[in-house]
Amino acid sequence: MLDDLFRLVRLQDLDHLIEAYADPERRKLERGMGFKVGKRAVLRQQREELAATISPALVGRYTRLRGRHSRAVVLLRDGICLGCFVRCPSSVVALCRVIANTCESCGRILVVPRGRGPTPSAHAEAPSFAARLLASP
Ligand SMILES: [Zn+2]
Repeated sequence: MLDDLFRLVRLQDLDHLIEAYADPERRKLERGMGFKVGKRAVLRQQREELAATISPALVGRYTRLRGRHSRAVVLLRDGICLGCFVRCPSSVVALCRVIANTCESCGRILVVPRGRGPTPSAHAEAPSFAARLLASP
């Protein structure tokens, strides 16, 4: 499931690239800066291939959220949703380490960066809670 989330982050990046390249001024600006501007059709193809590797339910959830938020998938850092900057309850933080979870305030999908998570001192109960979730069928 967490691999799906990280692919979802890449999908969101591709969506933003596709949107940016729809703007002729932006393409001209990037060409002027020496960037090779890709073709939208190629980006769309890559997007479709990537989306096919992610759980359809998660892609559907992401697509619905993109109607409300430009960034539907955001980082959860030190217990704070970087979409709305509200501190999430420790139970939400713990769940984000094992499943796709959403911010209770803004509804965005939360991602904990690899190698990061709640600090043991701040969320001492989190590892055992997450371990129980992983162990449950
Ligand atoms: Zn939020």
